[in-house]
Amino acid sequence: MMPKDQGESIPSLNRTGRHATMPEEQLLQGSCHCGAVRLTLPSAPEKATKCNCSICRRLGGLWAYYEFGTVRIEGHPENTAEYIWGDKTLRNVRCKTCGCATHWEPLVPEPGGRHGVNLNNFDPRLQEGVQVRRFDGADTWKFID
Ligand SMILES: [Zn+2]
Repeated sequence: MMPKDQGESIPSLNRTGRHATMPEEQLLQGSCHCGAVRLTLPSAPEKATKCNCSICRRLGGLWAYYEFGTVRIEGHPENTAEYIWGDKTLRNVRCKTCGCATHWEPLVPEPGGRHGVNLNNFDPRLQEGVQVRRFDGADTWKFID
């Protein structure tokens, strides 16, 4: 599992720090609807993926990818539920109170491995500069744009 103190070493993202009122930092902080799960991105995403696979189309997630461990996630796993399916390489994580899909993460993290964060848990302004790509996870496993 991800160490809870990941992200503490990034000064600009310190929630209690001097820069707490900077707009960019606020945009990097998101949460599920009820606030039990809170996420802080290490940087603004440049790209995000909409996937049509059987789970993504149901969740309606807009996924941005980060190196596993670089996104600060509070309230996980104590406030989350997980769903593991298929080849059982990752878990889809949601808030167990409000049900919002927050992220997915590898079951067995490897160095440099990625995980996905659902940008729909963040201020809509964060998505404004993001290039959204459509991924055909249902069939060809390729981008279709
Ligand atoms: Zn919630």
